[in-house]
Amino acid sequence: MEKKIVVSGMRPTGRIHLGNYWGALKNYIKLQDEYECYFFVADWHALTTASERAPLRENSLLMVADWLSAGLDPNKCTIFRQSDVRYHAELALMLGMITPISWLFRNPTFKEVLVEIYRQKYKGQEDKMKKSEGAMDAMASSHGFSDEENMALNSELSNYGFLGYPVLQAADILLYGASYVPIGKDQLPHLEMTREIARRFNHIYKTKVFTEPQPLFTSAAVLPGIDKRKMSKSYGNTVELSDYGSALEAKIKKMFTDPQKLRANDKGNPDGCVVFAFHKLYNPNSALRERECRDGAIGCGACKKHLYELINPEMEKMAANREKYSGKLELVEEILQEGAKKACARAALTMEKVAREAKLI
Ligand code: ATP
Ligand code: MG
Repeated sequence: MEKKIVVSGMRPTGRIHLGNYWGALKNYIKLQDEYECYFFVADWHALTTASERAPLRENSLLMVADWLSAGLDPNKCTIFRQSDVRYHAELALMLGMITPISWLFRNPTFKEVLVEIYRQKYKGQEDKMKKSEGAMDAMASSHGFSDEENMALNSELSNYGFLGYPVLQAADILLYGASYVPIGKDQLPHLEMTREIARRFNHIYKTKVFTEPQPLFTSAAVLPGIDKRKMSKSYGNTVELSDYGSALEAKIKKMFTDPQKLRANDKGNPDGCVVFAFHKLYNPNSALRERECRDGAIGCGACKKHLYELINPEMEKMAANREKYSGKLELVEEILQEGAKKACARAALTMEKVAREAKLI
């Protein structure tokens, strides 16, 4: 029986982190044994938010080195770089023709990222912050902007590429006929849009060319970063997959804990404590830690030290695997080139069908 297809990508916006690992990569490693998998470096997607100086090529190679060190195997799955398979851009263009703009303005991620940017830009200036949030709501409901709103939104992100991000993402997935997409829960609205775009194309052209993909979640919820916001490469709040030893220890020490728990024997509240969120993943007996924290029987320092001991062995193992590629990123490049050939062959089949449906050929 033919294996079902799985597709997923990550943006090379920085070194990958434990959120990416628990939210997606761990799943990739499991899925490569069961499905026909395509895992790609979303370098075009990175252009939507990365600064123009971001070393995307280098980031891409380092990211794939991290994937390999964690256990992805190019003999079991296809690993490639999005920009090496130009069909992604071609299909995005075609899908853009049938995607209503209102769907894109409604995308919650679009709003969230803008809010975050304004939050940083207007720190402490509540009135300006409110205004920009208001402008975004106005945009979402109608997409007529007043001049003032336009000005408020005139950030580096009020561009066509960022708004159209979900269309490119739909192309990434639909190009390979994916049945499943392993993602973190933060990506769910985008996947829903992919499903809607697939449905709409099929409906307009009276075809079944696209499969509506389903999400595959890991059991991990969205992981918080050391400052308690969502762990994200763009927020500078990550524990990187390549951190181990003293670097890892230093990051754990900085993790946000219950601000009311000042002394070791103060009663604490583990809900909302970043250290506890990690205990839940790494500590089989996290319930004990929870009780001790609530009773004031353990201090945050000891709790952090224990967490380090739980995480570090796996990180050291990955660091040893990564050695193979250190200073030899051309090995990673070779893997990407091989993968691009396989991905192109599969993508070409879909593109031909799409062009036929649209009566281009
Ligand atoms: P950026 O800030 O550039 O968006 P990111 O850290 O959010 O980077 P992505 O490349 O957007 O990472 O996401 C890669 C994969 O990791 C996605 O499937 C996403 O759902 C998952 N992921 C990202 N952050 C987290 C998190 N904090 N918890 C769980 N999963 C996450
Ligand atoms: Mg992200």
